[in-house]
Amino acid sequence: MLAVMLFEPALSRSDDPLDEDRVLLFVGNALIVATGDDMRLPTRAALAALVPAETVHVGALAGHSVETAHIDAATQLPSGWVHEPLRPLHGRLPDAEWAVAGRAFQLAEWDRTHRFCGVCGASTDRLADERARACPQCAHRGYPRHSPAVIMRITRGDEVLLGRSSHFPPGMYSTLAGFVDVGESAEAAVRREVREEAGIEITEPQWFGSQSWAFPHSLMLGFTAEWASGEVVPDLTELEDVQWFTRERLPVLPPPASIARRLLDAWL
Ligand SMILES: [Zn+2]
Repeated sequence: MLAVMLFEPALSRSDDPLDEDRVLLFVGNALIVATGDDMRLPTRAALAALVPAETVHVGALAGHSVETAHIDAATQLPSGWVHEPLRPLHGRLPDAEWAVAGRAFQLAEWDRTHRFCGVCGASTDRLADERARACPQCAHRGYPRHSPAVIMRITRGDEVLLGRSSHFPPGMYSTLAGFVDVGESAEAAVRREVREEAGIEITEPQWFGSQSWAFPHSLMLGFTAEWASGEVVPDLTELEDVQWFTRERLPVLPPPASIARRLLDAWL
């Protein structure tokens, strides 16, 4: 994929800060970007007044260093700049830049939330040789958070099982998904989530592919499986609705950036 080829991850940079660095500053989960339609990742020169002294180095995108940091929500933005939630920026930022912004968000968020040791409470330091923060008092190390989740396309004949969550846009349904429990395999998580959310049993899950999903820090593990037994009984505490759909009678589907859509496009 182009997005992968253009980007080289790295822990630190070999040169001093440059005006043409790409600087990704976040306020909560929103990225600071210029207003207007021609949207690109900001340069250090453009955001000079806002860039904190200490940033997290993400890597290099098309030869430009990428730095990231969280900044205070009260910071006044210069005229012509706004902060926008990352997810809807898909399609407005070039794909490779949007993917790097998702990576940067997860690193900035991890760095911001691991400043103190979870064991003894001392201030932690960033390590130079791996992506970690270490405690000088007790040597505990904190690594970027990453939560595995499964997402699965379940079919029965020419029908596909889709569910609707109350926070989806109107009319949209998606493949079922859920987090992998501690101590659980991904395949077991697929079976459990389908049983819990839809009340049915499925065949052995087959690997499909994966996607990093920065909302907030998931690694989505995609599977496919077929219905084996049971009638659909939606878990209405988690979802508004779960039902079988044919290709001729599909609801609104998830946006193209998502692995949910890739799973469905491969079936369509
Ligand atoms: Zn400690």
